[in-house]
Amino acid sequence: AVIGTHRPTKALIDEGAIAHNVRGEVQRLDDHTELFAVIKADAYGHGLLRVARVAAAAGARGFCVAILDEALALRAAGFTQPILVLGVVSPEYAALAATNHVAVPLVDADWLTAAQPYLDAQHPLAVHVALDTGMGRIGFREVTTLQRVLATVEQTAGIQVNGVFTHFATADDPDTSYFQQQVVRFQELMQAFRVRPRYVHVSNTATSLWHAACNGNMVRFGVGIYGLNPSGRAIDTTPYPLQPAMSVVSALVQCKQIHAGDAISYGATYRAAGDEWIGTVPMGYADGWPRRMQGFHVLVDGQECPIVGRVCMDQFMVRLPRAYAAGTKVTLVGRDGEAVITLQDVADYAGTIHYEIACGIGARVPRITV
Ligand code: PLP
Repeated sequence: AVIGTHRPTKALIDEGAIAHNVRGEVQRLDDHTELFAVIKADAYGHGLLRVARVAAAAGARGFCVAILDEALALRAAGFTQPILVLGVVSPEYAALAATNHVAVPLVDADWLTAAQPYLDAQHPLAVHVALDTGMGRIGFREVTTLQRVLATVEQTAGIQVNGVFTHFATADDPDTSYFQQQVVRFQELMQAFRVRPRYVHVSNTATSLWHAACNGNMVRFGVGIYGLNPSGRAIDTTPYPLQPAMSVVSALVQCKQIHAGDAISYGATYRAAGDEWIGTVPMGYADGWPRRMQGFHVLVDGQECPIVGRVCMDQFMVRLPRAYAAGTKVTLVGRDGEAVITLQDVADYAGTIHYEIACGIGARVPRITV
């Protein structure tokens, strides 16, 4: 992908905030519980290698990613910490994972059968057994199947169980009833293990923040690294203050006056009520600023300025209270004076969650360390 280094649109990444968020969580954990930083999807849009480096320095002991390629990118960059891929890796890549010391999920009997030709006793593959306790996504659901597969694994020199895990569907929900059902199911499935694996882990950010008693000996800490509340607005207190790490800024590239009845953007959906100042911002839906942000606002000179007309692929227009020079700073996410726009605000308006906005900020937008 081409990165827009000659355009004023940038995602600013606050490494101090990332370090603060990781350190805050590490300090809350028991001595025997390790934090693995979840840095899939380019660290939720914040930059894989940057976040790996900062999180490790702040106390993260390992990394979780979604796909094998993300793990290999970390190895290529020289990271030697344990890495777990959270998503299913095609069995044919078992040898590639093993030689790179990357752990992968063992999700069912078929996966083990399909992986057999690629296993090598000289380079045993580390697996974390996935238990589907109610997420319905990946992992074992039946104790008997699990017992049978674990017995096969014990007989197979090329594979070693290094961990066991599950994932909660509602850890961010004030209603804990489904969460408790999953905890019970996890305990039932754990009966299949004769030996407790090295890593037992169930916690995403929400679980570690609000149900730490469940943690096991490792947590998969994701969205909290980036200073975002996993519940959105549902649970508004966190055990320590999270600091948002990403802001998004740009600059006006043109400012002009239009007159009553003049239209703005595709479909001519916006008409000026009178004389109005209109600024053009060089970011669009191709950069991850959703088309449905029409009607939301940005900050210019500490003031909220409405987005008028349709958001285009690479640009959108805002109504300004007066003329501003081209080059004037525009804040899409972050603080300008007293005014703030959070990723949560953007997500609320777009009808989604901040996770989707953060990791959707396009590859064309440079990430700049601040
Ligand atoms: N564990 C698993 C299996 C996940 O899929 C994810 C992310 O979706 C996480 C942990 C991290 O979740 P969060 O970002 O909510 O902490």
